[in-house]
Amino acid sequence: MEAKTSSDIIIGIDLGTTNSEVAVVQGGRTHIIEIDGSKILPSVVGIADDGSLLVGHTARNQYVLYPERTVRSVKRRMGEDVSLEMGEQSYKPQEISALILQRLKRAAEEHLGQAVSKAVITVPAYFSDAQRQATRDAGQLAGLEVVRIINEPTAAALAYEADHETAKTILVYDLGGGTFDVSVVRLSQDVTEVLASHGDNHLGGDDFDAKLVQHVLNHLKETKGADPSDHRAAMARIVRACENAKIALSDQPYARIEEEYLLEQDGSPVNLALEIDREVYEELITPYIDQTLEAVHIALKSAALAVSDIDEVLLVGGATRTPLIQKRLEEALGMQPRAEVDPDLCVAAGAAIQAAVISGEQVSSVLVDITPYTFGTSAMSLLNGEPYPYTFIPLIRKNTPIPVTKTEAFETLYDDQQIIEIRVYQGEDPDALNNSEIGSFRIEGLKKVPAGNIILTTFSLDLNGILQVTAREKSTGLEQRITIDNATARFEGQALDAARERLSSLIEGEARDVTTEHRESVQAQALIEKAERLMETTNPEDREDLVDLTEGLKDALDGGDFSAIEAAMSALSDLIYYLES
Ligand code: AMP
Repeated sequence: MEAKTSSDIIIGIDLGTTNSEVAVVQGGRTHIIEIDGSKILPSVVGIADDGSLLVGHTARNQYVLYPERTVRSVKRRMGEDVSLEMGEQSYKPQEISALILQRLKRAAEEHLGQAVSKAVITVPAYFSDAQRQATRDAGQLAGLEVVRIINEPTAAALAYEADHETAKTILVYDLGGGTFDVSVVRLSQDVTEVLASHGDNHLGGDDFDAKLVQHVLNHLKETKGADPSDHRAAMARIVRACENAKIALSDQPYARIEEEYLLEQDGSPVNLALEIDREVYEELITPYIDQTLEAVHIALKSAALAVSDIDEVLLVGGATRTPLIQKRLEEALGMQPRAEVDPDLCVAAGAAIQAAVISGEQVSSVLVDITPYTFGTSAMSLLNGEPYPYTFIPLIRKNTPIPVTKTEAFETLYDDQQIIEIRVYQGEDPDALNNSEIGSFRIEGLKKVPAGNIILTTFSLDLNGILQVTAREKSTGLEQRITIDNATARFEGQALDAARERLSSLIEGEARDVTTEHRESVQAQALIEKAERLMETTNPEDREDLVDLTEGLKDALDGGDFSAIEAAMSALSDLIYYLES
């Protein structure tokens, strides 16, 4: 083996509007390089009080206080012949970008312990020649030879499909902090090309924040008669709190915004305390999401493709973690979008993969730990248009990166309902009963209130496949939990059936009957257990019937006569159904 010389190493850079990242492939694996303890460097440059240069988080933090000494979103100005004021001096967009690139280069050098002089840099598919040239110039100013400029959607596709064997058509939906674009990429063994791209470079997660900020301002006006819009510091706190609430709402149904002493009004403090409901938030951002879906259809049309021509949908950009976006895309395109590779980092990872390919290194797609199964619970909800008590409600979807925690809200069905049974299932079927039940527990002693008492159910899955499910009564905090070990190692319902089938084909002759018989006896056993539980609560008359039918089923099982077992099961399940309804 030969050590790589510094001239061989090529780093991959995502030079973004809001954030930038740098990555490198080492030993066939992609590493995102940390800068000041974070994988993300805000694309913000500033001059501090003492005249020193600030790049990244520190520059971003000073923006609200000293906008005249700070430059944000320089990417929007690339290719323009303008001067940007920063403190006493003015700079060209390429110069500001060069300062960001230089910080990324230094981080890579510190990580690798050697000098770095070459980079692959990504740009949006819609960038003009002038904008691409300005990006190259920025690289050169930072001491980097830009060996290739590649399109961001192509980089994202490479992060997922570095080792693609067959040609694929991929739709890349990229929603960042301040820009949106959607591209159709054709990936084949030796050529990757962007067939079409469409977007809006003034639409992004920041607009979602702005909607929430407006919501908060309305609330302050209505409840306190306060208007902080002219108070810079108060507004900065509200904006930050709203962004945090937005991020929280991606994983839970409610988020609290609490800011004490926001400002002073008539000599007394104005405190902010507000709960935001995910449904309210989703209504606020729906017009933006509609707009992005229109862009998806325009991009498909310009590529002369139909929805059915798309093989994969990839999500890029932090704002695509919004569940409503994933849901709407799935509805519109008929497939679950892929989000396993961190949407903030996948463009940088793809740039590093392209860099490795150029320097002749072996490389595979980015590997991440994901759950191979969907986990969820059951609830009364519509299934095929009818209310059904065992509708499967997924909380953690298949292919979600782990560790992950998701919370959903459920409501009690009856007035004064004091007990709820939480069943935990693994599987993909909309009918929970067709999935594998991997655990259940009860939460008892709920408050006696009318139907609609909110219960928050949280699923947390860790890297070891341990699933923790917690149910909490929202109004009181009363809580119950269960821990399920090896949740990801179990057989899924269908996988179990497939495995049985495989095994049964090995066993000759009566194999098929053995399988069916086995299944019948497992079901019969479950029915008997259920009947025995019911006996404890039913009236004496019904109990007698239950006992008779249960004994009948037990006898049939002992006798081993198939049709007798079936008849006894059917009689007992009819009675249970009658008693439970
Ligand atoms: P990017 O420019 O790709 O880094 O995306 C940044 C945008 O993603 C910002 O508006 C963030 O607030 C937003 N964002 C980050 N994490 C989440 C999340 N979990 N849910 C919703 N938006 C998020």
